[in-house]
Amino acid sequence: MTLMFNGIGVSKGFAIGEAHVLLRNQVDVAARKLTKKQVPAECRRLRKAIKIAKAELLTARDNIPEDAPSDISAFIETHILMLDDGLLSDTPVDIIKTEQCNAEAALQQQREAMAKVFGSMEDEYLATRIDDVNHVIDAVLNALVSGEEKATTENWKGQIVIADDLSPADTVLMQNQGVAGFITETGGQLSHTAILARSLGIPAIVGVHNIRQYVRTGEMLTLDGKLGLLLAEPTAAMLSDVRKQQKAFRQKQRDLNKLIDTPAVTQDGVSLQLSVNIEIEDDLKALKRINADAVGLYRTEFMYLNRDTTPTEQEHFKAYTKVIRALKGAPLTIRTADLGADKDISHAHVASSGTMAHNPAMGLRGIRLCLNEPALFVTQLRAILRASAKGPVRILLPMLTTVAEITQTLAIIESVKEALSEEGLEYDEHIEVGGMIEVPAAAIAADQLAQHLDFLSIGTNDLIQYTMAIDRVDDQVNYLYDPLHPAVLQLIKYTIEAGQKANIPVALCGDMASDTRFVRVLLGLGLSEFSMPPNSLLAVKHSLINARRVRVRRFSTALMKTSDPEEQASLLERINRS
Ligand code: PEP
Ligand code: MG
Repeated sequence: MTLMFNGIGVSKGFAIGEAHVLLRNQVDVAARKLTKKQVPAECRRLRKAIKIAKAELLTARDNIPEDAPSDISAFIETHILMLDDGLLSDTPVDIIKTEQCNAEAALQQQREAMAKVFGSMEDEYLATRIDDVNHVIDAVLNALVSGEEKATTENWKGQIVIADDLSPADTVLMQNQGVAGFITETGGQLSHTAILARSLGIPAIVGVHNIRQYVRTGEMLTLDGKLGLLLAEPTAAMLSDVRKQQKAFRQKQRDLNKLIDTPAVTQDGVSLQLSVNIEIEDDLKALKRINADAVGLYRTEFMYLNRDTTPTEQEHFKAYTKVIRALKGAPLTIRTADLGADKDISHAHVASSGTMAHNPAMGLRGIRLCLNEPALFVTQLRAILRASAKGPVRILLPMLTTVAEITQTLAIIESVKEALSEEGLEYDEHIEVGGMIEVPAAAIAADQLAQHLDFLSIGTNDLIQYTMAIDRVDDQVNYLYDPLHPAVLQLIKYTIEAGQKANIPVALCGDMASDTRFVRVLLGLGLSEFSMPPNSLLAVKHSLINARRVRVRRFSTALMKTSDPEEQASLLERINRS
């Protein structure tokens, strides 16, 4: 009988193969009382298991493919360091000694203690670090039971692996051996398995609760990593249908790759600029693959994350020059730190971080925080200006609300330039300064802001959040996150027109620019500069170069005038017909 399961599709693509169900992490962790005499042997057993787990991690690290994203090795390095940390290597041994209990129970006790500490952290990123603790403890528990290195010796070729969760080390080893897909019981869009599966291009579904109770190793499975759909023991007809979809998906990927060198021009001759958003070093590799026109948004917040010291001017400078070198003359737009709210950071960086606010999204974030923390701001501006001597660089200011914020910032930039000149350091005297339009007030007053800026970039992720009065990371109000709300479309159109009147370029760098359902709507509103994550660029290009602006314009205009979901769906369908 065919069974169907739903989970969260986190890495698109189709997989067909036999299930390989990992029953690891179901180790019995119940406490057993030991005699005093048994304690030393139990401590040795635990130390040996830690050694085995470490050996497995080292093997995984040595097997990371050369072109794999650097976060993979970062995850594994973190796990190796964790195993060396006293909290995992010494404390459980102490527990065995003081409580005279078995190693499994000692590890479980320490896991619960650490979960409490991590769980109480407000920082979303740090709170998810409990995943790392769990991976490491599970690796030791498995080694306690099996007493040998496991993951390295199994064969995953062509199989769909089902596990409660997968560690980065597992993921790397399995992909090396040609695993067809991943399914996990836990996790979300941002879990390790999801991030790694996406960057390795392996179809994956997470959050399929209790799946291991229903599927057995050896059963035939199909997996749709976009819809999050899993079929166990599909009928011949179902199998053939998934095969067809898989073939079409692969063909589409191949077709999109053919567009790499195709000029970005619509059917009626509108020249487009398709740029990419980058955050981490690995994005540079993807950028080279797709031949993007420029970097339209370099989010620099990552430099402040997961550390207690503030990045120095030299660190900023080094990071920027690396990107400039990789771009080989293509322009780079560096956004000054948009810290606070959903990009919360350690208080070690800024005394006044938005974490203390009742409503951080409305608090001290983006340009507000930078103007409130001049030392932090000047450090970054000095580095950006110095980097501008090495290649074409523009400055982009996040979360602007008022003209006063712009004039204040421009004055700071001028004083930084003067200081650099006095020190004999080079910079681009004519560096362009642009502003993100993310706050409704800024969109409505865009014509005034535009008078003081060299370019505008619309950040729809925040613009929608603030227009709809919803927290962009709150699932409960996510249903209101509607890029097609007439108010949102009006604000976008108004901003584009303000830029045209002021004769300055307007780009859009929020997620809307990477969503093929919406890009033609934006084209119809008058947009011609789109900036998006590298892996969306070819699909967006495909949609736009097959469109005619004169044709899509009337649908965009009609969409601005309707709130009726059926009419919206029909207009979207028509605008996206090739
Ligand atoms: C946006 O708000 O649309 C944007 C691009 O910025 P971020 O997502 O980094 O807030
Ligand atoms: Mg934003």
